[in-house]
Amino acid sequence: MTDPLVEIKDLRIHFFTDEGVVRAVEGIDLNIKPGKTLCVVGESGSGKSVMALSLLQIIHKPGQIVDGQILYHRGRVAGGQFSQNGAVDIASLNRKGRDIRSIRGAEIAMIFQEPMTSLSPMYTVGNQVMETIRLHEKGISKKEARERAIDILRRVRIPKPERLIDEYPFRLSGGMRQRVMIAMALSCTPSLLIADEPTTALDVTTQAQILDLMLELQQEFNMAIMFITHDLGVVAEIADDVAVMYLGNVVEYSDVDTIFNAPEHPYTQALLRSIPKISATRQPLDMIEGMVPSPFRRPGGCPFHPRCTQALASCSTVVPSLTTLHENHIVRCLLHEETGEEVPRG
Ligand code: SF4
Repeated sequence: MTDPLVEIKDLRIHFFTDEGVVRAVEGIDLNIKPGKTLCVVGESGSGKSVMALSLLQIIHKPGQIVDGQILYHRGRVAGGQFSQNGAVDIASLNRKGRDIRSIRGAEIAMIFQEPMTSLSPMYTVGNQVMETIRLHEKGISKKEARERAIDILRRVRIPKPERLIDEYPFRLSGGMRQRVMIAMALSCTPSLLIADEPTTALDVTTQAQILDLMLELQQEFNMAIMFITHDLGVVAEIADDVAVMYLGNVVEYSDVDTIFNAPEHPYTQALLRSIPKISATRQPLDMIEGMVPSPFRRPGGCPFHPRCTQALASCSTVVPSLTTLHENHIVRCLLHEETGEEVPRG
């Protein structure tokens, strides 16, 4: 089994608002493997994006990591020799300190859903790509940084990069802007690329091109990708592993074939039933009854129990723990606690 690049252990992120405490992430355990794509799926409000932001220590107040570890094993993918001493706990780093700034962008990079809000309209494409390069590569001249920026823009298949480098983002199409974001993220060849719904705002043709491009660059740079999405079609296309989240917890984790062909958690099963099928005509779409509960009124016991069609009497009072069903298949559900093996914390 591959050693993980990132190990998230019992991570908890809370938001301390005037209305009360929002437990956005409530005890996540998750591994990200080097060179592989992990898709994180779940409805809005499941904590996917907050969890991703914590990997770069960019949770803003009133949010705060209150417990847990994010162990990042530096240098594994870049060809460096792994040693236990090479692990850094991102959760314990000062969010404004030098250590996290040396990781952000250079070793773990992120692309967001809407590139227009992430790219500055005040600076040219070139200035923004070169800024990342010059920030992390001390001593590189402006001319060298410009050549590197043109090269990476060419690699993300931007036509005539020598000209486009001096354009402002608002002059580009949505697909081109997203390519620029990918170029910025890849400019320092990170070990992990976090992509938070990067294709949601794009039309299907551009979406397919961007996904192909990301997978191609993943091969070239041998980087891990954490891809956050609610689109199960995209998951089927690109994932190696899948983590299904509900109300701040990972409820099921496995390889993509197992998740699609033999899901064990009632929430995963319900999500898959709700995918429209081309063959099914004039049949009402299966829906998951009810709504994701308000984060201020988290249900006791299993958080999914008010919506679960398989709930047991104990589900409203007992919090399920993680259970290993098979190697690489973990589920958080009382239905499996008798048959599986509890995952040890450590
Ligand atoms: Fe449903 Fe109970 Fe399993 Fe939760 S623990 S998913 S309520 S069966």
